[in-house]
Amino acid sequence: MKAWETNVRKVVPYVPGEQPKDKDIIKLNTNENPYPPSPMVKKAIEETNVDKLRLYPDPTIGSLVSAIADYYEVKEENVFVGVGSDDVIAMSFLTFFNSDKPILFPDVTYSFYDVWADMLKIPYETQPLDENFHLVKEDYFKENGGIIFPNPNAPTGLLEDLSVVEEIIKRNPESIVMVDEAYVDFGGESAISLISKYDNLLVVQTFSKSRSMAGMRIGYAIGNEELIKYLNDVKYSFNSYTMNETAIRFGVASVEDKAYFEETVEKIIATREWTKKELERLGFSFPDSKANFIFATHETIPAKELFEALREEKIFVRYFKKPRIDNYLRITVGTEEEMQKLVNFLEKYIQNKK
Ligand code: PMP
Repeated sequence: MKAWETNVRKVVPYVPGEQPKDKDIIKLNTNENPYPPSPMVKKAIEETNVDKLRLYPDPTIGSLVSAIADYYEVKEENVFVGVGSDDVIAMSFLTFFNSDKPILFPDVTYSFYDVWADMLKIPYETQPLDENFHLVKEDYFKENGGIIFPNPNAPTGLLEDLSVVEEIIKRNPESIVMVDEAYVDFGGESAISLISKYDNLLVVQTFSKSRSMAGMRIGYAIGNEELIKYLNDVKYSFNSYTMNETAIRFGVASVEDKAYFEETVEKIIATREWTKKELERLGFSFPDSKANFIFATHETIPAKELFEALREEKIFVRYFKKPRIDNYLRITVGTEEEMQKLVNFLEKYIQNKK
């Protein structure tokens, strides 16, 4: 090892799902939305004035903060915007998880949490989900340096009742509780309604899933004014211009088209429910997903084998070689046509094994 290497901040990075170049694959591996963003975004792209790009963007991200605040009927002071919810959560870890006590999150959850904790040297303790993959709320009633969990959880898709979420927030007045609602629009009840009641609650959401804009990288947090101020202080101490001008504009266009958003979400929910019935018929079981993916295991065929067979067929799903979940496939809900192709292939494959 070179002398300077002892002082390098060494990290084991998060591994995102594959983004294959091949155009004719069916891509059900990273929970993207199969439908395009709102036509209003297309219009905003056409109206973009390239000359304006010589200027720095608004460091306060004012227009997007204001559009999000209007949408959720909160004050602008309650909204923080960042470059995808990954950026918002990383910034929040840096800002709020700053004690010697361990932060708590589930053992089966979004696999970026332990990466950020390791990188920022934040101690953490994972809390096992129960045998049905539900959160055990009592595990979060002990001393801690902060709490984070997704609701619905990933990769299980399971939603916890808002009363469970509220109890966790209520029992932890001394630490910040972050609820990662990346998938909440597909059937969950948001904790945003609780921000005026609890000053220790930060709700994080994203444009990457329900708003079909993963490529634009827009995420946001909603919470008490004080929390948002602390987050902005850290952001401005890091980089004043996190959001680029185009992302800000396209984000505003997207939020303003509520009808399109609702219609797209409805389509995905309908396809998810259809896919659940078909998968059940084929011998799969899964937690009852309220997200835009299904976390499924087959009664006889190992997940890894199905993952590889699907891949051969150019159908990409996600497989995690991790304790407790290495016999599951996480299948993103695509278009009706894509899901029909997935079901047709699985049906044939399973038949041939009999
Ligand atoms: N939270 C969860 C639970 C997720 O699954 C994802 C998507 N990988 C994110 C946050 C981050 O999404 P983005 O950065 O695209 O907003």
